Amino acid sequence: MINIYLYDKSIVCPVCKHEFTTKKVKSKTIKVVKRESDFRAEYEFDNPTFYGVDVCPNCGHARFESDFNDVNEAVKKAIQDKIGSKWKSKDFCQIRSLNDAIEVHKLALLNYNISHYKPSVIAKVCLRLSWFYREMNSEDADKFAMHARQTFEEAYMKENLDENPKEELTILYLLGELNRREGNFKKAMEWFSLGLRSPVINDEKFLSESLKEQMVIAKNEFKKLKDKENE
Ligand SMILES: [Zn+2]
Repeated sequence: MINIYLYDKSIVCPVCKHEFTTKKVKSKTIKVVKRESDFRAEYEFDNPTFYGVDVCPNCGHARFESDFNDVNEAVKKAIQDKIGSKWKSKDFCQIRSLNDAIEVHKLALLNYNISHYKPSVIAKVCLRLSWFYREMNSEDADKFAMHARQTFEEAYMKENLDENPKEELTILYLLGELNRREGNFKKAMEWFSLGLRSPVINDEKFLSESLKEQMVIAKNEFKKLKDKENE
């Protein structure tokens, strides 16, 4: 079947040197029709997040495109020992279903955990898994959203995010929003106010508006909860 929204990208695996091509969504055809408050989006055509993780069909090395080659010798060995040696060749390089997207993101999660990779990236994988499970109406959506929240907290404590203030602001927003969705309204308000004090807040219109809007919602929810407790 030919899909006109996809193209083939050539890749060389940094772990086993295997050359392969994998499908990506043509950026010109990406059309968002709906975006939710934790950034889950719905698309008119193919969903680019399904194709965000590249998977080597030969050894199972699986990561986001941006980190695929970020492996030193120790990490390569760990991936070969813990993933490659058990890998039953499976090809995720063609058109992907929602189930395929879940499977490749779980592979990436395993890879990043084995490599002791940055918590901010591990959190991003968990957040995407929560989106995919929400699309399936599965309870696992909440489980992965909670993992994402916990791992973003770890990223905020341990990573040097000052170098990338926009990323830091995005994480502060998500920490607020994921806490709010879990019902931790007070915590949500604390993260949102940290975000609103960011030095780049005036340059980031979309994030700034989202922070203000979700702060109002969290405040109202917190007040409702307090009123109920005092009844
Ligand atoms: Zn490989």
